[in-house]
Amino acid sequence: MSHNLVRLLAGTGAAVALGATLVAAPSASAATSTLSCSVVATKSGDSGVLVSAIQSRLRVSVDGVFGPRTKAAVVAFQKSHRLVADGIVGPLTWSALGGFPCSAVGTSVAASVSSITPALATRMKTSYRAGCPVPLSGLRYVKVPYWGYDQRYHVGELVVNASIASATVTAFNTLARNHFPIQQMRLVDDFGGNDDNSVKANNTSAYNCRKITNGTGWSMHAYGKAIDINPWVNPYVYQGHPQYGVSTYVPRTPGKGKILCGDATYKAFTAGGFSWGGDWKAGVLDYQHFEHR
Ligand SMILES: [Zn+2]
Repeated sequence: MSHNLVRLLAGTGAAVALGATLVAAPSASAATSTLSCSVVATKSGDSGVLVSAIQSRLRVSVDGVFGPRTKAAVVAFQKSHRLVADGIVGPLTWSALGGFPCSAVGTSVAASVSSITPALATRMKTSYRAGCPVPLSGLRYVKVPYWGYDQRYHVGELVVNASIASATVTAFNTLARNHFPIQQMRLVDDFGGNDDNSVKANNTSAYNCRKITNGTGWSMHAYGKAIDINPWVNPYVYQGHPQYGVSTYVPRTPGKGKILCGDATYKAFTAGGFSWGGDWKAGVLDYQHFEHR
């Protein structure tokens, strides 16, 4: 959703910390992409070099297959390190185990920050057009891990302003480590650039060159400086009226994928300089919305 102030943008990407690796974000003019390695999940049923490496660290027999004995060892390790004892080697457990070089990681994803390529620009034809307040060169394509509603790690995609790419990656890395559930994270273009359709799909997204809701100015999403998280369960409420007339998720009581004032998700974003739409006054509350000024 949106806010009614328009700001000029300044700055480009700086250093981006991804997991254990520090990489440099591309400058506004660079057409390059930087990648970093981050393990997202290894669990029962998996096999391969990473499982072998985990078994070696846990001092169980190494066969490269994540079976019951490996899971029991992971749970014991997690308990002894005050981690969530779920038997899944996610980023926190992986880190506590000492980590591994990317070349040894068999089950991994690359979190990344990259410039908008011509192919991506073609894909963005419903969210971007001539006359938008930020040129494509001022935007970044960001991939981040997230913990799904299915209790597995996934890789999501966002387009954000270059100036907040680093803060965006840091915040979503924290959410993933916290196992904050996100239903899906795809570009709004996968929904025809239509915010309503994206909201109804509970899709987490950021950039969309559109006007503010209930107004005429550019939305902060048109600057790539706002992110909507699980928008169906974190609704936009205008003067007491929830969007689409659905009141089910208006109360800020704990629930799957919901953001509450002061909770870990709130803190992950506000620590990175974002403000939350749930803190707004003057009759508009936007519980899905974080923005960076
Ligand atoms: Zn928003």
